[in-house]
Amino acid sequence: MTLLEVRGLTVTYPGGAEAVRGVDLSLAAGRKLGIAGESGCGKSTLALALLRLLPAGTRVGGEILLDGEDILTMRWGRVRAVRWAGASIVFQGAMHSLNPVHRVGDQIAEPMLLHANTTRVAARKRTGELLEHVGLPPARARAYPHELSGGQRQRVMIAMALACDPHLVIADEPTTALDVMIQAQILRLIEQLVSEQELGLIMISHDLAVLADTCDRLAVMYAGRVVEEGPARAVYEAASHPYGKALSAAFPRIGDPASRFAPRGLAGDPPDPSDLPSGCTFHPRCPVALDECAVQDQALREAGQARRAACVHVGAAVPGVAAVQDARSTP
Ligand code: ADP
Ligand code: MG
Repeated sequence: MTLLEVRGLTVTYPGGAEAVRGVDLSLAAGRKLGIAGESGCGKSTLALALLRLLPAGTRVGGEILLDGEDILTMRWGRVRAVRWAGASIVFQGAMHSLNPVHRVGDQIAEPMLLHANTTRVAARKRTGELLEHVGLPPARARAYPHELSGGQRQRVMIAMALACDPHLVIADEPTTALDVMIQAQILRLIEQLVSEQELGLIMISHDLAVLADTCDRLAVMYAGRVVEEGPARAVYEAASHPYGKALSAAFPRIGDPASRFAPRGLAGDPPDPSDLPSGCTFHPRCPVALDECAVQDQALREAGQARRAACVHVGAAVPGVAAVQDARSTP
């Protein structure tokens, strides 16, 4: 069954920035989707839109069906309930998301008391179980956030996200603020927990290698659009879109600190969403752009089995372009 179906999602911030421009996504229950792309490509905007967490005045269009119900047309009361019991988010900076003056156990229990119709005693018991689940001693429930390490705080955030038994967990760069050893542990933990409980997972990262390791499918975002998507391993090992190729070349292995830098061989930054280039938005940085790319935008098209990419070279015979050869040789 389809857990999440996103159709033609657009997000325009009050200043006019078109941060998400027509995204379609589909996620079956129990499956894991990775979303990759450099900073500024609209990944967090997409995640926030899924739970209507965007600032007031932001225009959102399209459809977001979670368990068949459209998030965008729901009443606020329903949205608040869905935020915990339907889908929950693990953000990057756990220190900023946790309240410094409350014990972490109380913070994990709070959504259960508010949204899951639970008694205080039951919530306390469940909090202990959740802490154990994420690899922390139940006694840590009495700790304040500053008494925990960064990794432990992120574990608390994960416990909180799981508290109301959501069907979907959205993890937005959940390990970027953590050191390398801890990153791998936390990612494995998230993957293990969603697998055990057959939850859907959307894992956002700029690191393709990490996503290839934890997700079934992978979508690559550029300038507010999905420019490539397909089976995670296949996209990581042989991307079809020149942007996907540049991203995967930049991340040779999980946890490599050098992987924080811009994609190798790709100068510049993603465009400003309030001042997008004409044609294919990637053309000013693209090593294989043709003249027509400055004029003509490309829709996603078939790029091998269960794969799609939005590039003029995909599915077209252009002799001498390595991008095309690679795209073809990968089924
Ligand atoms: P990512 O998560 O991929 O780094 P974001 O979704 O955070 O990307 O940002 C996408 C674009 O939207 C960026 O250009 C960013 O500057 C812009 N943006 C993000 N939040 C706001 C906001 N509240 N108001 C205006 N523009 C924003
Ligand atoms: Mg982000």
